[in-house]
Amino acid sequence: MKRPGMRAMLAYMEAQKGKNYVVIFDDLKRFARDTRFHLELRSELASRGATPECLNFKFEDSPEGKFIETMMAATGQLEREQNRRQVKQKMMARVEAGYWVFRAPVGYKHVQAKGGGGKVLVPNEPLSSVVREALEGYASGRFASQAEVQRFLESNPHFPKDTKDGRIRPMTITRLLKKVVYAGYVEAPKWGVSVRKGQHDALISFETHQRIIDNIEGKKRAPAARKDYNVDFPLRGFVACKCCGNAMTGAWSKGCRKHYAYYRCETRGCDAKSKSVPRAKLEAGFEEIMQRMAPSRGLIEIAGMMFQDAWALKEQTMREERAAWKSQIKTIDSEIENTLDKIIEAENKSVIRAFEKRIEKLERQKIVLSEKVSGVLPDRHTKSECMELSLSFLSNPWKVYKNGGHAAKQTVLRLAFQEPLTYCPKEAYGTPKFSFPFKVLGEITRAKKEMVL
Ligand SMILES: [Zn+2]
Repeated sequence: MKRPGMRAMLAYMEAQKGKNYVVIFDDLKRFARDTRFHLELRSELASRGATPECLNFKFEDSPEGKFIETMMAATGQLEREQNRRQVKQKMMARVEAGYWVFRAPVGYKHVQAKGGGGKVLVPNEPLSSVVREALEGYASGRFASQAEVQRFLESNPHFPKDTKDGRIRPMTITRLLKKVVYAGYVEAPKWGVSVRKGQHDALISFETHQRIIDNIEGKKRAPAARKDYNVDFPLRGFVACKCCGNAMTGAWSKGCRKHYAYYRCETRGCDAKSKSVPRAKLEAGFEEIMQRMAPSRGLIEIAGMMFQDAWALKEQTMREERAAWKSQIKTIDSEIENTLDKIIEAENKSVIRAFEKRIEKLERQKIVLSEKVSGVLPDRHTKSECMELSLSFLSNPWKVYKNGGHAAKQTVLRLAFQEPLTYCPKEAYGTPKFSFPFKVLGEITRAKKEMVL
């Protein structure tokens, strides 16, 4: 029975003045939603000459009757409050056990757990992939700002929008980015439940989540990908003007009949400013450099051996790193314990809050470290796979570049060259600075030639 309903009923009785009503309630506890409302309603009914009657309780106008009536109403109120508390306690216990008890975040849905035990979150495709792309994109710098994440999600047909014209509020984006639940963890800060491992599968690693938080809080950003991302000009930002050293830009120019693609320097005051180089010419020169990079078959074998050595070294460092992380976890544990001691001694509320914040931070650091420690060391299978991949890249970087998508192209550029190539509209490319493996292979080739001479 809702209050508005009661109000409507009172108004109706008002209109029908003079008639004697008997209002029947099926349950006193429900009739009296709380003691004050109950007494109010009683007097309202009395003033309209109506007699309340209840199926599980006989109203009486005697003092004893009123006493019992009030008691029952109060009991009802108490019961409801206890229920609420019990529900909250149950929910808290579930969060503490790693279950997400709130509305499923976008990208997840609740399903009944197998073998009982309530509901668990499971990824909800295709939305979970969209959310993952947004989160990882922001963490890696592919999306340079929250506004870019917003545009990305607004352009996705599956992602739920906040407004009818298809917009998403900035607040929604911030909340989405900050949600620890996407890293496979749960928390309920309002109930004092700190971050803990959840029962559900993560969409991103905790490290990625932490990077997002750091980005939002304005700490050092991960090296950002090119901002002027453009699939039409894969070398944009990677070829620098030889005169001024700034990156050349790529753009379409309008001719008489059709559009032409050009690279050019746009730096004010540079001698080479606005001297356009046709895209085909610049990219052909680049292909030539890449083709020249491919080492001989004998060198590939040497590279294979170098790879084996490098891998063994990497494994060694990983073992050492893991040991270092483990000892860092121990340090954090003792620091948490010390802070807890300080909380017990502290009396000032704001001091306690500061300590609690400190613990929260330490616990987050600990999760990142534990995640690193539990990351598996690469096995033989991965090793041969990696080696095959690396050698096929080393033996023909151009092929990998040509057949790859935009992201693969950017990776090849970063792997093959130590720094951006330089280009001068008059003299074409400057001497490229190859990355370490190519440099070493090149030096071996030179040494061999000298020995022959
Ligand atoms: Zn220039």
